[in-house]
Amino acid sequence: MLKGRRKSVFKISYVIIVLLIGILAVAWYSHVLKNELRELVRNTLKEVSSQNVLIVRKEIEGDLNALTEIAERIGALEKADEDTIVRTLRGVSYRYSFKRMGYCSANGRAYTTDDSVFDPSQWDWFQASMAGENCISEPLIDAVDGEEIIIFSAPVKRRDKVAGVVFATYRIESLKEILSVTSFEGEGYTYIIQRDGDKVVDSVNPTSFQNMTNIYTSMRNADGRNMQVVKELRQLLDNGQTGYVIFYNKIGKYMYVTPLGINDWFLADVVPVDFMESTSNDILYRTYVVCVVLAAICVIIVVMIYVEERRKKRQMQNLLYVDELTGGDTHAKFLLDVEKKVMGAYREAAFVMMDLDDFKLINELFGYAEGNSVLRYTWNVLHGHCREEECLGRSIADRFVLWLYFDTRGEIEKRVTQMAEEIQRYVIPQASEYILHPVFGIYYVDKGDEDVEGMQNCAALVHNLAKQEKSGSYKVYTDVMKEKMLQKKQLSDQIEFAYKNHEFIAYYQPKYESVSQRLAGAEALVRWRKPDGQTISPGLFIPLAEESGFVRKLDEYIFREVCLAQKRWLDKGLRIVPISVNLSQRHLENPEFVDEYKRIVDETGVPIEYIQLEITESALYEKKKEFIEIMEKLHQMGFVILMDDFGTGYSTLMMLKSIPVDVMKLDKSFVDDYDDVRGRQIIRCVMRLAQDLQIAITAEGVETQDQYEFLKSIGCDTIQGYYFAKPMPEEEFETRMEMSGLAGEEA
Ligand code: C2E
Ligand code: CA
Ligand code: CA
Repeated sequence: MLKGRRKSVFKISYVIIVLLIGILAVAWYSHVLKNELRELVRNTLKEVSSQNVLIVRKEIEGDLNALTEIAERIGALEKADEDTIVRTLRGVSYRYSFKRMGYCSANGRAYTTDDSVFDPSQWDWFQASMAGENCISEPLIDAVDGEEIIIFSAPVKRRDKVAGVVFATYRIESLKEILSVTSFEGEGYTYIIQRDGDKVVDSVNPTSFQNMTNIYTSMRNADGRNMQVVKELRQLLDNGQTGYVIFYNKIGKYMYVTPLGINDWFLADVVPVDFMESTSNDILYRTYVVCVVLAAICVIIVVMIYVEERRKKRQMQNLLYVDELTGGDTHAKFLLDVEKKVMGAYREAAFVMMDLDDFKLINELFGYAEGNSVLRYTWNVLHGHCREEECLGRSIADRFVLWLYFDTRGEIEKRVTQMAEEIQRYVIPQASEYILHPVFGIYYVDKGDEDVEGMQNCAALVHNLAKQEKSGSYKVYTDVMKEKMLQKKQLSDQIEFAYKNHEFIAYYQPKYESVSQRLAGAEALVRWRKPDGQTISPGLFIPLAEESGFVRKLDEYIFREVCLAQKRWLDKGLRIVPISVNLSQRHLENPEFVDEYKRIVDETGVPIEYIQLEITESALYEKKKEFIEIMEKLHQMGFVILMDDFGTGYSTLMMLKSIPVDVMKLDKSFVDDYDDVRGRQIIRCVMRLAQDLQIAITAEGVETQDQYEFLKSIGCDTIQGYYFAKPMPEEEFETRMEMSGLAGEEA
């Protein structure tokens, strides 16, 4: 749970970080782009402005130069009075766009081409030209018609002395016309202003300041925001710099100012910010659109991936959590739910494990469809008995796990019994007499115990025990069981260690011919002799070794020991007898041992007829086909096969016919029944059966003379039991063989 939450917090922060990085990247990019585009706007303005400067200068300087030339020409005339000069001026004035021209004599009288006379002496332009300079006046008002004008003036020099001034009146309207050439698609216009902000030329453009006399005043009047702009502009003009400001007249406008180089005039090109930035805004807008589209695509992809992942996860969860066969929960889901319950408020609970004894058989005998139907029925019964808050899951095959609540312990046992009874009501159509055997293992959960796996292990342990003991439909876990299991585990570990430490040895129990009482053979029986001399009988460790499969190694070891012993005795010149070795049924799972056993016999060089193999009858039942194949192979190799513990398994007459058995070992339990009349009858029957099938008989566990006499009388071939001898160490058996050899020689 916590892991999941941490994961989603991680995911969310990951998404936020990626988003933030994306936003920052876009912000940075648009900032850079904006700056680049501003720069572009400035450059455009600069270019337009410098072109306008060129045009204006060309116009004004062109006219001034023309006037200068005229003045020089007049100066060159030998004798010229005012009349003559005015006439001359009239003669050339049509070539120029001047309003009028005129001549001022040094004594301060001005004569114009339109016949007026005035006193120019107070005008700056007159004084400057009298001082020898060419001059362009500040804007003036024409005294004749009130038109805005400027006056160009140039000195007339005679013999290096200023004799008078030639002047021309220039209409400001003409400059206005020149500057009114539309720029920026009619959105732009141009002023000429003086350093103090006074206008020289204003604009006809309707969006320009109307009736402007001073740019600063107009700006201030137009918008409160222009206060700062005025300061910036004043700084530019005062310093005679080129630069721009953004001012407001309804809308934001760029004003780019450039000194004209005439008087202290500046050209001011104006263009709306929006117009200039419309292209850059377009680019920016498109960039944002692309970013948004990309982001949307990313979001869509992420969402799609997320949805697909969710779908897959749900599918996986279904696979993991829903049992296809029953439609109920799987083992994984069960464990998940139980873990949640365990973490919640404490309630008395039991972890129960159940399966059907010999379920495999149902599949084998009646087919998988029937097997599945049994499983579904079982689940239905269990599910029907489970309460809302309880859990049920199926692990492997026919194994079910339950999490049940209770108030008193007896309750669970009662419920489990009811479940078992209901399951047993199932009828297999092909075999109505077949009864299912449900087995339950109950583990009562300790208060505060949160280890679900541990609970499951305990339930599994007691369930296994219940199955082994076949004592009823359920068994309840006790701590003693755990202790025993632990001991078993320790013993199992010890066995492997003991094997490596060569603590296992073979004991030999002689077998005698019943009539002659001569030594006929022996059975090798494993003993565990600990370093402290203590000997442990196989009954204590063989079942464990069988459980773990270790018995295969052990059997092979004893087999080799017997072969080696036989070889030694042969080499000593003893008259050896056949020795039988026990073969665990675990070998049937792995037929490779057959060749290995043959190899050991060949290696040691013992004639194969001196090594016999004992296979317990009960092994026959389960794996009949494979078993017979192995037996046949062993038999063909030359091994004599003994059927051990005959009478304890389920072998039938038919089976005995098809299995290559040479000797039947009548189980001790038959021999023990000798006292009983019926027991004796059964022994006689078995004897007859064996004789009919031409199988020799060895009786096991013969302890008394009466038993011996009886078995001899009914034709039992060989006898093995404490009556003649207990299992003994190798040396002791060797002595027996020596004695028997001597007896044989004597006979
Ligand atoms: P088993 O093969 O039936 O061996 C006969 C068992 O009966 C032996 O017990 C033997 O000591 C005992 N016995 C023989 N005569 C008498 C008698 O007159 N009275 C009584 N009360 N018992 C008698 P042991 O040696 O304790 O072996 C027990 C079982 O352990 C064997 O039964 C066999 O199934 C298994 N076993 C022993 N050695 C091996 C082995 O090397 N490999 C395998 N796989 N199993 C072995
Ligand atoms: Ca045996
Ligand atoms: Ca036996």
